[in-house]
Amino acid sequence: MSNSLEDIIKQKIRDEGPMSVGAYMALALGHPEHGYYMKRDPFGRAGDFVTAPEVSQLFGEMIGAWVVDIWRQLGEPARFVLLECGPGRGTLMADMLRVGKGVPGFLEAAEIYLLEMSSVLKAKQKRALAGHNVKWIEKIGDIIPTGLPVISVANEFLDALPFKQLVKMEDGWADRCIVLDGDRLKFGVGNKRYTYQSSFLSKPLREGKVGDIYEDAGDRLTFVKILALILQKQTGAALFIDYGYIEDGLGDTFQALKGHEYVDVLSHVGDADLTSHVDFGIMRGGMDVSISGPVTQGEFLKALGIGLRAQMLAQNADEKQAEMLEKGLHRLVDSDQMGTLFKVIGFWSHDDPAVKPAGF
Ligand code: SAH
Repeated sequence: MSNSLEDIIKQKIRDEGPMSVGAYMALALGHPEHGYYMKRDPFGRAGDFVTAPEVSQLFGEMIGAWVVDIWRQLGEPARFVLLECGPGRGTLMADMLRVGKGVPGFLEAAEIYLLEMSSVLKAKQKRALAGHNVKWIEKIGDIIPTGLPVISVANEFLDALPFKQLVKMEDGWADRCIVLDGDRLKFGVGNKRYTYQSSFLSKPLREGKVGDIYEDAGDRLTFVKILALILQKQTGAALFIDYGYIEDGLGDTFQALKGHEYVDVLSHVGDADLTSHVDFGIMRGGMDVSISGPVTQGEFLKALGIGLRAQMLAQNADEKQAEMLEKGLHRLVDSDQMGTLFKVIGFWSHDDPAVKPAGF
């Protein structure tokens, strides 16, 4: 069944030719009217997927403790930008601010910025953060005019930014694209060929065989690089948490989730969440900041003391709540749950030798 966004994409392909995976993803998620994130709240049991802050308050509390610790290490600046990229329902920020409330001076110092493209989610965030003074921004550069130190967190944000796929053909690498087969969307390749030979290239690009897929997340890297430059200039730190890998490799990680099930990435256009795994290894290169990690989410949260915090909360909880806490804890840190697939990487300005992000 065709919907209007699918029709728009088909027409664009008819007019302009093969559409890159990145362009397709950008439209499917962010088309102003029909994009996946623009018209719904995708989270929770009734939605399409559940993220760590929605699993348990423990997650946001740990990240909140991390933020407070960085603020202290920065010398408790009287004003700073507390930024969250892609805040979803606002749950993580709300949990972090609850932690910050117990720390003298922290809330007064924090200028809360949310980078969000969806007006549906902005409305949710507004409700979740009622009572706080929040500013929404459209692009990362919008925090530059503040000139203030920045502490930024982002959970499952980078995976939602468009990425590129290349596919190895007999005559070189080609862009993996979406094309039309009659009236159906299917994968094909673009007309351009890239023949990479340099020994400086990553191994998969040198060694790929015909049919292999290589993922290139240029937009994600650019985003992180801009934030790193801002940190370097304004001081501060940033934390990115997402599912992904550390070793660069070949393979197709493009995925679609709908109603907690994996579905075909070309079906349900604008009605399924589209992501791919984040290349954490590549984020370590070429950044003019200090970097911690990547480590697994399980290691990170345990190092921050999530076990102790769960015990503390359980002491004042009834049986049902204690069980929920226990379940949430396991879901966040266990290897067969989110503990290993999810990775954490930290950046901080290296003009601050005193700063050492916790948890790594
Ligand atoms: N961090 C939240 C939500 C993750 S989903 C959580 O853990 O629950 C991805 C979030 O990023 C959503 O809020 C989505 O609307 C937002 N987003 C995706 N692409 C974006 C873009 N290009 N610019 C701004 N926000 C974006």
